[in-house]
Amino acid sequence: MTKFKALGLDKPLLDAITDLGFEQPSEVQEKAIPILLEEETDLVALAQTGTGKTAAFGFPLIQKIDSQSRTTQGLILSPTRELCLQITNELKLYSKYIKGLNVVAIYGGASITEQARQIKKGAQIVVATPGRMKDMIGRGIINISKIDYCILDEADEMLNMGFYEDIKDILSDTPEEKSTWLFSATMPKEVSTIARKFMHHPQEITVGAKNSGVDTVQHEYYVVGGRDRYPALKRLSDANPGIFSVIFCRTKRDTQKVAEKLIEDGYNAGALHGDLSQNQRDLVMNAFRKKQIQMLVATDVAARGIDVDDITHVINYQLPDEIETYTHRSGRTGRAGKSGISMVIVTRSELRKIHAIEKKIKQAFVAKKIPTGMEICEIQLYHLASKIRNTEVNPDVADYLPAINDVFEGVDRDELIKKMVSVEFTRFFNYYNRAKDLNSTDHRDGGDRKTGSRDGSSNNGSVRYFINVGEKDNFDWMSLKDFLKDTLAVGKEDIYKVDVKDSFSFFNSDADLKERILATFTDFKVEGRFVNVEVSKNPESGGGRRSNDKGRRRSKDRGRGKRRDGKAFQSGGRRSGKKKSKRRDGFY
Ligand code: ADP
Ligand code: MG
Repeated sequence: MTKFKALGLDKPLLDAITDLGFEQPSEVQEKAIPILLEEETDLVALAQTGTGKTAAFGFPLIQKIDSQSRTTQGLILSPTRELCLQITNELKLYSKYIKGLNVVAIYGGASITEQARQIKKGAQIVVATPGRMKDMIGRGIINISKIDYCILDEADEMLNMGFYEDIKDILSDTPEEKSTWLFSATMPKEVSTIARKFMHHPQEITVGAKNSGVDTVQHEYYVVGGRDRYPALKRLSDANPGIFSVIFCRTKRDTQKVAEKLIEDGYNAGALHGDLSQNQRDLVMNAFRKKQIQMLVATDVAARGIDVDDITHVINYQLPDEIETYTHRSGRTGRAGKSGISMVIVTRSELRKIHAIEKKIKQAFVAKKIPTGMEICEIQLYHLASKIRNTEVNPDVADYLPAINDVFEGVDRDELIKKMVSVEFTRFFNYYNRAKDLNSTDHRDGGDRKTGSRDGSSNNGSVRYFINVGEKDNFDWMSLKDFLKDTLAVGKEDIYKVDVKDSFSFFNSDADLKERILATFTDFKVEGRFVNVEVSKNPESGGGRRSNDKGRRRSKDRGRGKRRDGKAFQSGGRRSGKKKSKRRDGFY
């Protein structure tokens, strides 16, 4: 609290901050607030989503506004209706102890007369989307010729969405001598153009790395036959039980179709596209935000306003026509300091588009394979086992325990585990048991290309491992890779194809590291917990290497899960070696 005071904020704001429960300023607030309070200056502030930018401009703006005058003094432009409402609500909370201060939101898709009425009552601060703002200026409903402060919030996003011309027009209606504050997560060319053209010697503050976001996303592509897009999508989802994703389709029709099929197939999915009413879209977005929807199928236009930070996967069901659009799609994940994965389902004939995108984003794609049915079964089995393990016991169950015990009389522990897991697992197993390989096998390009520098560079084979830590332990593919690299004291290149699931993960190394890896993780504990590494039952997971051969072999050898050697699923670690084969028989 005293820290906020030290930034120069007055009592009404400090009281509101106390109510909000903010204990200390975030970095961008600490840097921006004193500058904006003390000087009349233009400012460019770069900070990731979720770093508290709203308060960084909101606090000084509120303090500088004359609440006794009814003139509009501050204009905030923001890319979407949702953000517009969010900012308005925040500013109202910040200014709750300042009498007479009105903050009004102006955005499309709602009654313009009602908004005009609110403006007429006198709004010192207007928060607007560029489109509706321009409209209202054009109709003479709003006057921004006397504003002192203009804030461009999420500037990169606004420009992404093609609002450059609107912003330019709006700014031309504002006085020359105002201050302009630009807030953005990244600083692409378009944003610096705005800064150069419309701002005067702006001061610049940066929180965290400039332009970050880029390398927090891993790009993957999966080559399938044109008719296998939908089953491929299902597998990608099934192979990632904790998935929270946006799936992009090219048309409204496909969007609706894919969403409907997913729902029919029992997934928590929803559609977002322009044929839905605003009300329907709001419902879908709310459900998505609450994670009641795990797979949001959307068109590019409709997905523009999505401001959800913890999206784990973006799936390109179809590639967009414009390469530029791909960067907007993939930018929906890997936000706010988290990492993410952008997957592309492509047919062979579209592979050249992948090359074009690589050039544009200056990042290589990883060529991956659609998981086989058995790989998915393995993942689902681990998932189910850890779900059971992590389930909180309902205390009321105790009353029924004697009766339940009677039912299980004579069934030993192993048997019981097998049965419990099979209740859910058999459904999956039956579905995938005879599932074919979906990977388009003979792509001339070869599966070896660009799967990171490891691929094709080694000829001693690759080993896939299972490790019993995952997202629940706060790992993502980047941090798990770092953890393995540090623990094993190997190079960054030695560990690859790191796939993090909710409570477990997979990774690969070259075969010569196998002994070292298994030895390191024997009786290995982190914070009192055993971290186990096993050789995965499905060493081909993740794809990439010599995929042509594998693909062929795989499609012939359908029932191989039954006979496969190697380590089977086991949650108890290597020490229970003896039980392995027995246990596996039960499942497969
Ligand atoms: P950004 O615009 O950078 O994405 P927001 O301004 O929307 O971030 O802030 C993200 C969240 O953090 C909001 O819920 C906001 O109320 C909260 N927040 C902002 N500043 C602080 C702070 N100093 N202490 C605690 N929470 C804060
Ligand atoms: Mg913001």
